Amino acid sequence: MTFQATEAYAKELDQRDPLASFREEFYIQPGTIYMDGNSLGLCSKRAEAAVLELLESWKRYGIDGWTEGKYPWFYLSEELGAKMAPLIGAKPEEVIATGSTTVNIHQLVSTFYRPEGRKTKIMADELNFPTDIYALKSQLRLHGYDPDTHLIRIKSRDGRTIDESDIIQAMDEDVALILLPTVLYRSGQLLDIERLTKEAHQRGIIIGFDACHSIGSVPHRFSEWGVDFAVWCTYKYLNSGPGSVAGLYVNEKHFGTTPGLAGWFGSRKDKQFDMDHEMEHADTAGAYQMGTPHVLSVAPLIGSLEIFREAGMDRIREKSLAITRYLMQLIESELRGFGFAIGNPMEDHRRGGHVCLEHEEAARICKALKEQRVIPDFRAPNVIRLAPVALYTSYQEVWEMVQRLKMIMTEQTYKKFKNERGVVA
Ligand SMILES: *Cc1c(COP(=O)(O)O)cnc(C)c1O
Repeated sequence: MTFQATEAYAKELDQRDPLASFREEFYIQPGTIYMDGNSLGLCSKRAEAAVLELLESWKRYGIDGWTEGKYPWFYLSEELGAKMAPLIGAKPEEVIATGSTTVNIHQLVSTFYRPEGRKTKIMADELNFPTDIYALKSQLRLHGYDPDTHLIRIKSRDGRTIDESDIIQAMDEDVALILLPTVLYRSGQLLDIERLTKEAHQRGIIIGFDACHSIGSVPHRFSEWGVDFAVWCTYKYLNSGPGSVAGLYVNEKHFGTTPGLAGWFGSRKDKQFDMDHEMEHADTAGAYQMGTPHVLSVAPLIGSLEIFREAGMDRIREKSLAITRYLMQLIESELRGFGFAIGNPMEDHRRGGHVCLEHEEAARICKALKEQRVIPDFRAPNVIRLAPVALYTSYQEVWEMVQRLKMIMTEQTYKKFKNERGVVA
């Protein structure tokens, strides 16, 4: 089938979409086109049911809910870790559901950043998400280093992407640890994780990835590539709700490494309730948990991951690439001459799950889109992120969204808004 900018073509694509039926699993507001699943995924009926199930176990069992009920709380973090493992290509015991992205960065950097001799620096990139940088700077300060001299941030050549060869070039003898995103949150660039890991290891550098913008959208093979550690949230493409419990991965070669930030839930499960003051930490990724798991906030993940198991990461990636490609084709054919630029890399192996649409007036175009019941995502100064999500966005919605955007640009209705962001952009 060759691309056509017609609604009939969009409908045809929907008919051929093997994942189309999953849309019914989600709460979708009629008439609203949701393009922000890369910031906060939509609620599914199964996620809702899992929350209710865990509330029920609390009502029914009280304290015994730790070991009774459909999902005993005591083992839940490990079980959900095992269920997330296929999404990133890891072994079940290498993954645990715990903490938040920021907390997990602190945990794993404090575990694996071991400055020694000349090797004292941490490397990241200048387009990185702020919280990752704040965490790295504070970790350096805790070790008595000045972030201005000890945090290396790889520069972008074009303001959108980071060149892998620039990262590799900077892997000097003084670098102890690298933390990079899998997919850059603004431009959607997918880094070559395998290559970067190999190059870091050749130089004796520990390398970890923040997979917030790829988990549930791009499959990985972290174990096979030997990635040392990774973190991610579960509320973006994993659809587990605002503030849902995050995930972390530690390669099995590091099992036994003493957690930087220890807490009793990192204990061996059979020893935890011995209440001994000498901690015997788990010999799995479970060792990097701290306190009591946030059971009610991890609950939606139970339902959500069932959907991922049924849909399969390969099919999800295939649709994600197809529907984002379709969106880019529509942008090129329908929005020509309005001053838009596509800011994400075009090649499939270099892009994640969203399209980065740039425009000088992006802030107020987003407001006009919201008025037209399209939910985009604005990132200052000029980026409109649009994420048609494999599990719940239809091709027809993408088509309709572009029509609404075209109307906004033709009639210049965006001009009635101020070109500045809201409190939560
Ligand atoms: C979403 C996101 C975060 C969010 O971290 P929280 O601790 O959940 O607030 C961090 N880093 C990146 C790269 C993200 O995309």
